[in-house]
Amino acid sequence: MSNYVPFLNVKSSYKHIQKEIDDSIFQVLDSGNYILGEKVREFEENWASYCEANHAIGVGNGLDALKLALLAVNIRPGDEVIVPAHTFIATWLAVSALGARPVPVDINKESSNIDESKIELAICEKTKAIIPVHMYGNPCNLKRIHEIALKYNLYVIEDAAQAHGSIYLSKKIGALSDLTCWSFYPGKNLGAFGDGGAVTTNNSELADKIRCLRNYGSTSKYIHNLRGINSRLDPIQACILNTKLKYLDAWNSRRNDIANMYIDSLKNSMELKIPENPQNGNVSCWHLYVIQCIQRNKLQDFLSKRMIETLIHYPIPPFKQKVYAEYNNIEMPNAINLCTKILSLPICPFMSNRQVGYVINAINEYTSK
Ligand SMILES: *Cc1c(COP(=O)(O)O)cnc(C)c1O
Repeated sequence: MSNYVPFLNVKSSYKHIQKEIDDSIFQVLDSGNYILGEKVREFEENWASYCEANHAIGVGNGLDALKLALLAVNIRPGDEVIVPAHTFIATWLAVSALGARPVPVDINKESSNIDESKIELAICEKTKAIIPVHMYGNPCNLKRIHEIALKYNLYVIEDAAQAHGSIYLSKKIGALSDLTCWSFYPGKNLGAFGDGGAVTTNNSELADKIRCLRNYGSTSKYIHNLRGINSRLDPIQACILNTKLKYLDAWNSRRNDIANMYIDSLKNSMELKIPENPQNGNVSCWHLYVIQCIQRNKLQDFLSKRMIETLIHYPIPPFKQKVYAEYNNIEMPNAINLCTKILSLPICPFMSNRQVGYVINAINEYTSK
């Protein structure tokens, strides 16, 4: 098994700081406070400050973060919300959950993010919001998206579930739009050991509303002013996140080193397209390192035979899923083309240089055949 390269070993981050994590969990158990409370508040403060945002609200998971954000800006049945054609399905499901209609826009071939030049064509009088997704950690062109939002009076709600620590025009992702939604699913750059999520913003009114909505629409016990839900960040997860947050920059920097080893040693060719570092003051947190390969399945098999585990994010876009049957025939050529070619390489912060070299050699061996 010595050559086995797992795609991501979520347990390795636990092993790395086991004592600190164990201590922080016992602190919560010992506190007798198992819903919200001091530990959640502490994480909210730390996460807000990490994201350069005035407010952070801890919630149950990333999907709920998106749903709460949409609820807070009064998205209603019959409304339309612009979403990218290529994303994890949560982005779409959040819109559908409120009875609103996700309206897909194809992606830009270079960035794999929503093609902002096609957004205006998708806007009509029912459109209320845009949800840009920073795919794989690579920031969207927010400047252009904000211009469009201003022109048509739309909210911008970022899906930053893959962008912990990413930087757009020299500013952290977190408070650049109306609301920014986070997931702390274990596999994310900042991951809990269970579900977790957050919304960050500089808008105090929206922050107060989401804080109320996540807790049964209540700000004081048994007084209910909004039709809220129950989606509170668990204090044990908050404590784990507080501990792991101290290491996020170091772990992201290791991801960046691995990405740069891939960039320096894998060769762009007719067959293979290698992602580069973003330009102009943008920084990717390298949640995923996604190459494109014409015969993707062949390359995946080749790597798998060499014990290198790879994944596909994502093999079927939301509009081709059964749950979105009414969209199945729409044309989103770039999204369709992309999902046949993409392959996510291992980029775990705990990979050794030897393992990265082994992956590089295997891919170069494949392409030189
Ligand atoms: C992970 C992810 C989500 C959902 O997060 P959960 O915490 O699993 O609900 C939403 N959007 C994107 C782009 C994601 O990658």
